[in-house]
Parts: sequence; C-alpha cells; structure tokens
Amino acid sequence: MTSSVKLKNKRVVPPIGWVYYVPETKHTIRRATFIDLVQHVKRHFKANELEIPDDIENRIEKFICDRIPLSMTTSTANRNEFSKLRMTVGAVQRATSAALHAWRDEKRRSVSSKEAEERAQICVDCPENTRNTACLSCRGLNNWVKGWQSVSTTKDNQLFICGVSAIMNIAHVHLTEPALRKCISSTLIPKHPETCWKRKTLEN
Ligand code: SF4
Repeated sequence: MTSSVKLKNKRVVPPIGWVYYVPETKHTIRRATFIDLVQHVKRHFKANELEIPDDIENRIEKFICDRIPLSMTTSTANRNEFSKLRMTVGAVQRATSAALHAWRDEKRRSVSSKEAEERAQICVDCPENTRNTACLSCRGLNNWVKGWQSVSTTKDNQLFICGVSAIMNIAHVHLTEPALRKCISSTLIPKHPETCWKRKTLEN
C-alpha cells in the first residue's frame, strides 16, 4: 500500500518530468504527460508478463512526489525539509565544488570520452537525474563547471543534478575512480540506484 501523498496538479509538469523507475524490471520510463506515463508503465508490465499492481498509479505519483518540491504535493511534511530536488543551490554548489576539487587533486585526469558518454547516457535514463527548480545555467553554475573542466559530452544539455549526491552530472561523469572516492562518502554509495555507474564503480 503506497502513501496518500498526491500531486497538487497533474497538468503541471514536475521539475523531474513525468518519469517512473520500474523496480521490477530496473527500467526508467519517461513520457510527456502523467496519463501517458501511467498507460506506458502498464503496457511495460504486460510486455514483461508481470502482473500490474492495483496501486500502480499511486506508486507512480508517490515516486514523483518524493523527488519534487513539497509545495507541488499535498504532503504536510515540514516545508523547510530539503532532500533530492529540495536541495538548495548552495548544497549543489558545495557538492559540485568538492567533486571539482577532487578532480583537480587527481591531476585533472578525466575518464575517456567513451566512458563519459556511457555514464552520461545512464544519468539521462536515471530517475535521480534531477532538474533543480532554480535554473543553474541562469545562475552561471554550468559555466562555472566548464571553467574548471574543458571536457564535455554530447548529452550535457540533458544532464542535471544527481539527486543522491547533489553533484552536477556534467561535472562528475568525467571523474576517475580515485577522485570519485574523495567526494562520495561510503555511506552514500548504496543509496544510488543499482543501475548507477557511480555505484558500480565505487562498489568494486
Ligand atoms: S550519478 Fe548515478 S544516481 Fe546520480 S543521476 Fe547519474 S546514474 Fe543516477
């Protein structure tokens, strides 16, 4: 049974978009509307010969509500509480700064462009690839990252913030394993989804 937290308005696109991670198949589904998302998720269950949970719509709604500002939901939790998308711009800047310093301390080495592209694609498909309600490029944060690193991927315009570590994905997809170990605490590693490239790298 899922909790009763609801979206206030299903016609307003949430900052993470209309997205659901299907734990049963480890598959992320994105669609243009909530209704389309629910229908597509149901079709996905059928295609995989899985029974569609009775509360699938509630599960999808809760998944999204857990990743967007409380003000967009019916949640009565403390509105000053921050987690995932509720991360402040300052928190994002601090986490990303730690990643960039770790990268610099590792002699500014980056993984190959092929590996960075593969990581970027995993982030694009990941439900934790989170748009912040504040526009980071408007605040100059994208340029700030680019001022540190001259590397990029073809997916940069689809990379947002890692909802687990608060690091900007355009920055840390390039980090080598030693640099990642310097900026990701060991307690945070298992909190990343099983499909996460960072979790796989750091759990080895
Ligand atoms: S770093 Fe991992 S958890 Fe974060 S957005 Fe990318 S794939 Fe998802």
